[in-house]
Amino acid sequence: TSFGFQQVKEEEKSKLVGNVFTNVASSYDIMNDVMSGGLHRLWKERLVGKLSPFAGMKHLDVAGGTGDVAFRIFDALNSVNRRPLHKASLEETQIYVCDINPNMLNVGKQRAAERGLRDNKSLLWVEGDAEALSFDDNSMDGYTIAFGIRNVTHIEKALAQAYRYKCSHQLDFRGEFLCLELSHVDIPVFKDLYDLYSFQVIPNLGELIAGDRESYQYLVESVRRFPPQERFASMIGEAGFEKVEYENLVGGVVAIHSAIKL
Ligand code: SAM
Repeated sequence: TSFGFQQVKEEEKSKLVGNVFTNVASSYDIMNDVMSGGLHRLWKERLVGKLSPFAGMKHLDVAGGTGDVAFRIFDALNSVNRRPLHKASLEETQIYVCDINPNMLNVGKQRAAERGLRDNKSLLWVEGDAEALSFDDNSMDGYTIAFGIRNVTHIEKALAQAYRYKCSHQLDFRGEFLCLELSHVDIPVFKDLYDLYSFQVIPNLGELIAGDRESYQYLVESVRRFPPQERFASMIGEAGFEKVEYENLVGGVVAIHSAIKL
């Protein structure tokens, strides 16, 4: 039946995604730098710059992998709230880094240790699936997902979960949803160059640096299959979020979608 076929496809996808990130965990950071020419750092800065973190907040970073986004949120909070007045509430801050792959989380924990944050109570590492996490309803002030939603099997389910976790505070800038994702380029010549880079260069880089051509081939294909900016914005709205907006970076190579739960 078509349902059976769909199910097999989904199981294969989950398995494939699992394999991809197990294979790439150790070379993950260097590949990000090489593939994006270091730009992924600026994109993540931009993502966190759009967030309004506050001392004592509960934040969920899904597909958090090696902690790149969580560390930036942590640093942003610690630089804004240096004054002792905020110290107590700062310590109550909880940033959950959730990822389906324990290997990625382990690399993240290692990096936390290198930063002297091994036992820091504000960083919490949780293994789990974006589609089925067990946090309470309305238990989070913020939700981020960077280069992650493209990999989940049912995007709508992940968005429904994101909506469920979010608090609707009186202050409407709290309860934020932010998603950073590789997206679609629609600028004539640039699009051709970007396609060439994606299909010709990236799999070769994957083979050369990570010794894994297939995982990076998968990456390129998954980007093509991901809904374009407008369509993805509609999906976020359909999940219940309001004030859905997006910003293209580098002509749409990457897009940051943002929304709030009122
Ligand atoms: N957010 C990190 C960053 O920007 O560097 C990591 C991004 S990495 C490209 C994608 C991550 O999504 C991987 O760590 C992978 O294990 C995780 N992932 C894939 N499917 C997931 C799911 N269904 N739920 C949670 N995490 C998932």
